[in-house]
Amino acid sequence: MIIDCHGHYTTAPSELTTYRDAQIAALKDPAQTPTRESLKISDDQIRDSLEGAQLKLQRERGSDLTIFSPRASTMSHHIGTESTSLEWTQICNDLIERCVGLYPKNFVGVCQLPQSPGAPLAGSVRELQRCADMGFIGANLNPDPSGGHWTAPPLTDKYWYPIYEKLVELDMPAMVHVSSSCNHNFHATGAHYINADTTAFMQFIQGDLFKDFPTLRLIIPHGGGAVPYHWGRYRGLAQDMKRPLLGEHVMKNVFFDTCVYHQPGIDLLLKVIDLSNILFGSEMVGAVRGIDPTTGQFYDDTKRYIDNSGLSDADKQRIFSQNALRVYPRLKARLAG
Ligand SMILES: [Zn+2]
Repeated sequence: MIIDCHGHYTTAPSELTTYRDAQIAALKDPAQTPTRESLKISDDQIRDSLEGAQLKLQRERGSDLTIFSPRASTMSHHIGTESTSLEWTQICNDLIERCVGLYPKNFVGVCQLPQSPGAPLAGSVRELQRCADMGFIGANLNPDPSGGHWTAPPLTDKYWYPIYEKLVELDMPAMVHVSSSCNHNFHATGAHYINADTTAFMQFIQGDLFKDFPTLRLIIPHGGGAVPYHWGRYRGLAQDMKRPLLGEHVMKNVFFDTCVYHQPGIDLLLKVIDLSNILFGSEMVGAVRGIDPTTGQFYDDTKRYIDNSGLSDADKQRIFSQNALRVYPRLKARLAG
């Protein structure tokens, strides 16, 4: 079985964008706020939006199940207030639930959280519980709800503890995933995403988060940002700072996906990082959509890189499914049930 741990609903019907545009426009005139009921998307529209995209690519590329969450770039937690974010988040999560309901063999849900700059995480805790009750198996946690200005405390700060407590209680992992960048210095997927991945890892080295939450599991996407390539730097910094060895201090709790989009990058990831910490992911359809002229294949067809990695079949299975089933126990229970 091949489980893709990283897929977003980037192809949702345009009515969703129309609703969001109206919601944002109404921030200036709350009387114009669209009702949730005004957003109408039929099951056929959802089927059409998936059949020619994610489902087609699953079939063509040979993956079985995608761990599926709302489009990351449009979470945009920096827009509006906590209540803006809650309304938008619940709409996006409910759409994921409908995708899963229509294609339960192809998708399983991961939720967006209604974060908002400076707001406490109580609303996110409630939404996580609501989504767990709907069968979701994890969450995307935005380390920077300000969208590129980094006004939130580090992920190791007690500010974040309510959501970690809930994740542990529910035995769910979270993917550390930023949203759009409203800081023009940082291109969203080219800089902001990779910055955030790298930043999260360094914060985990500096803090003692996993002493307080020994069973918490966090996935750093996009191949772990700059971390695997600079593994010696991070090991050396931890040593200089008198931190414990990374295998004990961070890597019992942190996992990287395979969204690096070229063979040498995957080969490096597999060589440097313990295979137990690597989950297969593609982030399709999404971040990079084109064809690599040097290979003639889509950049985000990441299964090819694992297939061609030279790993044994047993090791490939760890990356394709076994590690994911360990990190997402609710998925394992779902498949067994
Ligand atoms: Zn993503």
